[in-house]
Amino acid sequence: MEPAPKLTPMMQQYWEVKKAIPVGALLMFRMGDFYEMFGEDAELGSRILGVTLTQRGGMAMAGVPYHAVDAYLARALGAGVKVAICDQMETPKPGQLVRRQLTRILTPGTTIEDNQLQASRNHFLLALDADKRGLHAAWLDLSTGEFQVSTETSPANLLPLLTALDPKELLLPAGSTERWATLPILAGFLPGWQAFAQGRSRTDLDPWRFEPSSGGQLVAKALNVHSLDGFGILPDHPALGPAGALIHYATETLCARPANLRTLREYRSSKALLLDPATLRNLEIFTSSSGSRIGTLIETVDGTATPAGARLLETWLAAPSLDLEELRGRHATIGAFLEAPGAVGELRELMRGVRDIPRILGRLQNRLRNPRELGGLRDTLRVIPDLRSVLTTFDHPAVSNLGGRLREFPELADLLTRALAEELPGKLEDGGYIGDGHDEELDRLRGLTRGNQAWLTELERSEQARTGIKNLKIKYSGAFGYAIEISKSNLHNVPPEYIRRQTLVNAERFITEDLKKKETEILHADERALAREQTLFQELVSTVLLDAAPLAEAARVLAEIDVLAGWANLARLNHWCRPEVDDSDELIIEEGRHPVVEQRLRKDAHGLAGSTSFVPNDTTLVASDEQIALITGPNMAGKSTYIRQVALIVILAQTGCWVPAKRLKLGLVDRVFSRVGASDELARGNSTFMVEMNETANILHHATARSLVILDEIGRGTSTYDGLSIAWAVVEHLHGSGASGARTLFATHYHELTQLEKRLPRVRNHCVAVKEWNDEIIFVRQVIRGAADRSYGIHVARLAGLPDSVVERAKVILAKLEADDSSHNLLRLALRRGKGSGEIPESPQLSLF
Ligand code: ADP
Repeated sequence: MEPAPKLTPMMQQYWEVKKAIPVGALLMFRMGDFYEMFGEDAELGSRILGVTLTQRGGMAMAGVPYHAVDAYLARALGAGVKVAICDQMETPKPGQLVRRQLTRILTPGTTIEDNQLQASRNHFLLALDADKRGLHAAWLDLSTGEFQVSTETSPANLLPLLTALDPKELLLPAGSTERWATLPILAGFLPGWQAFAQGRSRTDLDPWRFEPSSGGQLVAKALNVHSLDGFGILPDHPALGPAGALIHYATETLCARPANLRTLREYRSSKALLLDPATLRNLEIFTSSSGSRIGTLIETVDGTATPAGARLLETWLAAPSLDLEELRGRHATIGAFLEAPGAVGELRELMRGVRDIPRILGRLQNRLRNPRELGGLRDTLRVIPDLRSVLTTFDHPAVSNLGGRLREFPELADLLTRALAEELPGKLEDGGYIGDGHDEELDRLRGLTRGNQAWLTELERSEQARTGIKNLKIKYSGAFGYAIEISKSNLHNVPPEYIRRQTLVNAERFITEDLKKKETEILHADERALAREQTLFQELVSTVLLDAAPLAEAARVLAEIDVLAGWANLARLNHWCRPEVDDSDELIIEEGRHPVVEQRLRKDAHGLAGSTSFVPNDTTLVASDEQIALITGPNMAGKSTYIRQVALIVILAQTGCWVPAKRLKLGLVDRVFSRVGASDELARGNSTFMVEMNETANILHHATARSLVILDEIGRGTSTYDGLSIAWAVVEHLHGSGASGARTLFATHYHELTQLEKRLPRVRNHCVAVKEWNDEIIFVRQVIRGAADRSYGIHVARLAGLPDSVVERAKVILAKLEADDSSHNLLRLALRRGKGSGEIPESPQLSLF
């Protein structure tokens, strides 16, 4: 919109600010008690914020009260609109244009305000670029300072982590969509990327912002170091391009360089257990198929008491480890905690007093300061000595190590305790956060204020006596200051020296010379007290920030204690066991259980007589021996639950947690692949069969001899013959001709596949046992060796309420089919069809038929 020809000085100021905003954003311009929007911003603002649109000098205008601005900001961000905030930088003086400045641009990925963040989740901004070498990524949580880069020559390997990070905003070089489409190295990445990027807030920057060498310099400056060598990152690391773009964007939106960044870490997908996006979704690690957190793995294993602990848990679960030392350390700590449940109870209780230090530091360092942040720090520092003394009661190296890393800050704790009032206001302007006795000057000013209050009370009393007006009152108003208020009916008694100041409906207000003098004194003392308080507050913040690095480290240790103590508690309550991890090729589970289903069954059992409890099952998979377990059994027998439980147990063990089993021996797994249920895909309208085949193709291309693969009902989405043939060929491929292959669980209702056990040396048949009783079947949920001997589909159909006549008829048809056509015949028929059309080449094993 063009500025109108004749502008007031304030509107000139407005347009200058508006022009200077570097990204497209709605401008909120502070005017007194309101943030005002003008022109198109006002129209947009009134629409998304639901505030009234008015006119001023021929221009649209809308405003929100300053004290409620946080709620409006959250609403704007929720609607995907960025907001620039322009504040008044000095106390307004009548007749003068107040100095104003852009103080902050809020965007979905860069907010650090408490009410715009989810406490238990990180809030990432992600920048990406790609060239023929690969995909270069950097991500930053501005609220906590977590900052990482990664370069991936197999870009699809990064998708699992990106999905788990769930960034709130993407930064991309303008034109990336077209350019990326021409890069062969991205071919396997783009389809997954498109699904990932859909619906996320996205900001395009000039491509030169992603230039690595200037990016490296920006990053080094933000981290306050000369070179990034100390972080093991070379100056020509290509991910420094996107990292620089992040710093640039963060600086623009904070209107200052981010001040809470301390380290830059490199993520290497080769050092983490990869969970591809399909697996994250299928196994309901972070979100359930209905899109919520209820019924997910993370919800089930979250025993944390603090937000920072919950975020660390999420970080660990997003990239489970391949580091034996690290995993054994976590497992051992849980073990030590478990031996002393009393002490862990105490730890967990104390943890409740721990506040969100990483985010408090983030806000203090990025000039977002309110008294309660310091209060949160004080409360936490008070708890640390108690936490440490509980930790010292453990005689275990893993715990002593944690205790040793947890520093106390006695002087800082003492300073904050002495300086801060016990109850703290939410805003600096409110005053009253510095306690009495901390500062002589402040005490003196407050003394003056109190003395003045007493003087006013005394004046009221004496004037009432002198004038005989009983309801004479001393009143204060912002615009007129102090005055003596006399009701209309008593006006005839007003002494002559009273000076009229203001007329109200039922009263008049007066001042006297004395009162006027006192008023100047009072206002002056108040103003000075508030100014003094703010100075003291800034001093406190500066003192605190001298210790920012050790405080951040203490916060990290607290988060670790929180996660591990929470796990110890869950392990004790749910009878989890300590995993034995090594680099063998085995996976041996005794009496394993599905953590989520078991918990659900237990919850259901409360109050429900006759409900079942979870039936544990064993698993043995050895890459070089019992590599592939084929699991047959009727629908509803428990096949899916079983194969998922194995994957979840492995993931938990490699996150560092104990597992729902009696024993686990695990040779570490490099990737978990899954092809299971696709109900959510169905809802999105994709062809189930295509999705199924895409996911299967991905597995066959990428599974290694160290991977774990779980497959559920492969081939179900097509005709029996096609499906059976594909399932057969998939098993053959996974088995391969080498000495070992990916440990695999293959659940199927194709009984024909059980033939494979005889033909491939590393295939083993298992089935989920069912019992027949009175022409009904009873699910016993037990996985045993051997093949299921017949199909129970008709029985299940009967249980599901199919009419008796249909069930009876189906039985007759089944009997006839079985008599006519053995499964071998079926398969041979399938293969003959395939060969005839030339679509399914015969493999060596199949020719054995
Ligand atoms: P399938 O894949 O064979 O059709 P599911 O794994 O979906 O069967 O299991 C069917 C039902 O049985 C689920 O509702 C699940 O809660 C229950 N279930 C599965 N395994 C067990 C078990 N080991 N103990 C108790 N209940 C189980």
